[in-house]
Amino acid sequence: MENNNPWLRARTQLKTAAKRINLDPLLLSHLLEPERTITVSLPFAKDNGEIAVTQGYRVQHNSILGPYKGGLRYHPQVSMDEVKALAFLMTLKNALADVPLGGGKGGITIDPKHLSETELEQLTRLFTRRLGTAIGPEIDIPAPDVNTNGKIMTWIADEYGKIVGKPSPAVITGKPVDQGGSLGRTEATGLGGSYVLLHLLKKLGKHPKDMTVAIQGFGNVGRYIASYLQQAGMKIVALSDSKGGIYIPGGVADIEQVEKCKEEKGYLAGCYCVGSVCDIRYKEKVNGQDITPSELLELPVDILIPAALENVLTGENASKIKASMILEMANTPTTLEADEILHKKGITIIPDILANAGGVVVSYFEWYQNMHHETWTKEDVFTKLKQHMEKATDAVLAAELEYETTLRESAFVVALQRIQEKFEA
Ligand code: NAD
Repeated sequence: MENNNPWLRARTQLKTAAKRINLDPLLLSHLLEPERTITVSLPFAKDNGEIAVTQGYRVQHNSILGPYKGGLRYHPQVSMDEVKALAFLMTLKNALADVPLGGGKGGITIDPKHLSETELEQLTRLFTRRLGTAIGPEIDIPAPDVNTNGKIMTWIADEYGKIVGKPSPAVITGKPVDQGGSLGRTEATGLGGSYVLLHLLKKLGKHPKDMTVAIQGFGNVGRYIASYLQQAGMKIVALSDSKGGIYIPGGVADIEQVEKCKEEKGYLAGCYCVGSVCDIRYKEKVNGQDITPSELLELPVDILIPAALENVLTGENASKIKASMILEMANTPTTLEADEILHKKGITIIPDILANAGGVVVSYFEWYQNMHHETWTKEDVFTKLKQHMEKATDAVLAAELEYETTLRESAFVVALQRIQEKFEA
């Protein structure tokens, strides 16, 4: 039985990359365990008077490069090991993206779809009080991740402000723009991923026009990368959320219409659109097919984009993957066994710590603007984001040549070398 524990996987990948560059053993020991882990109990009253109790986590993995930074996830599968793995990946991602931040991550084991807004706010505010001054603008700066958004970030900033007795918007990023958020943060992860992919294709001498793309996950990340890649001339042929998906071999005509349809219905399945009208009855008209999220992964496309959760590419389905390139927009979507099979099949995997770093880069910009009382234009944000993403891509490609290894290990190597420089300084 395959081991799908992302924390064990992260440690294995870390040890392999560390060996390749003879990483200082003391630094390796620093990175093999988080600097601090926090677990809190969160009892809250439901609207019907029932009491529910759940757990919240914050992992502060490493602060050699700066304050801890990383998102908060609300999901029933959130566990300490998952959060540790994600916090570790943030340490590497921030180093690779060249932002002066360490790695952190957090979450609550809950399905927010089963909570009312009042329950969600209550739980979020309690979580913030439990974390107290363990977070802060110069200590640890959380952000949105799966099932969390600008509204939740605003509650956290507000509650934290009460704890420290003054408004402190820089404690959190991913805030709405009128609450101190940065222009361009919402689009940043998807846009950043498109910058990486298009830059890499250019370096490989490949043209994006008419390349086919399948995207699993149609949340913040999935919907923006779909739009940006379509704008670049690619054909988005398949999309799915957790409940189901659509496959249109000729290409989805308009991502925005699909997005509107999903918003109205609450799910993406059946969103076959003709002009501005979307309806399951248009399936034949657009030559569409209904697919499941797992079937989507095995479609005959040029580029496959997991943009939902971890462990979706496994030892079981890896041999059936037909894409020639995988852009990991989700964090840690590929198990170790799958990684090996896909590599043997000659499939290029653009690793998560490179592909989805755009979110944290613009989170850094947001934090920087808050700390320096500046407001940047969206153009400024996107120009700077592009520079960070392309520079990181170039560094990974250079390491790939030098060490003759996968893009994933090359990304680890670049990140570790940057942390080592600071560790020695
Ligand atoms: P989100 O909550 O906005 O969207 C998640 C999407 O995944 C939804 O469409 C949901 O329906 C879908 N999904 C959930 N379970 C699924 C399943 N079993 N099969 C298919 N689809 C499923 O979350 P997001 O912010 O878009 O994050 C998606 C991924 O990207 C996560 O792995 C997250 O860690 C990573 N990521 C997000 C950001 C960011 O800025 N939001 C940054 C870096 C990485």
